[in-house]
Amino acid sequence: MSASDRQSPTHAPMTQFSVIDGELVVGGIPLTRLAARVGKTPFYAYDRQSLAQRVARLRAALPKSIKLHYAMKANPMPALVCHMAGLVDGIDVASGGELKIALDSGANVHDISFAGPGKNRDELQQAVAAGILINIESFREVAELARIREESGFLGRVAVRVNPDFELKSSGMKMGGGPKQFGVDAEQVPELLAEIGRAGLTFEGFHLFAGSQNLKPEAIVEAQCKSFELALRLAQSAPSPVRFLNLGGGFGIPYFPGEAHLDLAPIGANLATLTERAQRELPGAELVIELGRYLVGEAGIYVARVVDRKISRGQIFLVTNGGLHHHLSASGNFGQVIRKNYPVVIGNRMNAALQESASVVGVLCTPLDLLADRMELAAAQPGDLVVIYQSGAYGFTASPQAFLGHPACIEVLV
Ligand SMILES: *Cc1c(COP(=O)(O)O)cnc(C)c1O
Repeated sequence: MSASDRQSPTHAPMTQFSVIDGELVVGGIPLTRLAARVGKTPFYAYDRQSLAQRVARLRAALPKSIKLHYAMKANPMPALVCHMAGLVDGIDVASGGELKIALDSGANVHDISFAGPGKNRDELQQAVAAGILINIESFREVAELARIREESGFLGRVAVRVNPDFELKSSGMKMGGGPKQFGVDAEQVPELLAEIGRAGLTFEGFHLFAGSQNLKPEAIVEAQCKSFELALRLAQSAPSPVRFLNLGGGFGIPYFPGEAHLDLAPIGANLATLTERAQRELPGAELVIELGRYLVGEAGIYVARVVDRKISRGQIFLVTNGGLHHHLSASGNFGQVIRKNYPVVIGNRMNAALQESASVVGVLCTPLDLLADRMELAAAQPGDLVVIYQSGAYGFTASPQAFLGHPACIEVLV
């Protein structure tokens, strides 16, 4: 074993933002100036240009006819959703609250879809009135929609969310296969389709979502192939031709040491094959993929200010004014099994050597409030700005902001 083989794994390079005079530049603005403009720390900042570039690069890697949807639960900030609506082909929502933001964004109602277990009557009614596509996840939803149709006269546009008979391998979070609360088991779908036909709902297609945060292209390719085959089989029982086939997504981004950026080439090649097959075997159907994290995760940072520098029995602690109440996932408490460090830097000392090992913590009175555990960082002092990369998805709205009663965090789109 050579010396380099023995080195511990490192983070994938973070090249989405430039550095000028030792400062990270986000939205064209050096970090200390951006912090002054925001007016207080901590904050999340999302970079418009970086979001646009991300979508453009993804499109370049995929067949032109693939429709790209943004799954907005990854980041529902209204200004960001508006920006994304101008870049993608549709928005996927998961609640009545998200539906409002998607409608406000100006996205075409034809291209908004709604998935999620336990959609309530009011949400279904709003969705039908709006004219968006509802991904049905239970027999109860069909009955509710039939009643809404009788009472209001509005036709519901529906697709069936299928719980597939396979799992997405190597996924950070499995959301299909086996017993799941999501979708309707593939075996029950023919019966559900008959029910949809009897209820007079407008059937438009299938939705399959196997899982999230996958960094293995071969696993994503396999899931997309199996999803396609399953949809072909189920289409034989459909009351009308399939117009949309949503193959899910699950594209991951590198968060932790040893993880690499996802290779899109095999995924693009496979989708090209599936697109050709769809023209023959499902004529008139649009193939859709829906992505959240992959589109927005890398374009966002979380910024907190160092308020104290303490040394406890030889270990350096940078105490910031932020914490897990703003950024639960960076603390390791949002679905991770073993805590690992996100990529963290001192954003106003980007040119300084990584000369000390320090832990970054927040203001909360709990040992869980750890944002970086003994990481190699530039020597930092109170006043400096700690930056957590890969924070554009599942940050602000996926964190328990009320926990311990500290001030809320701010979000800006720059
Ligand atoms: C959460 C979710 C997504 C987005 O997942 P990402 O990992 O953020 O891409 C897409 N579709 C459905 C149905 C979801 O529940």
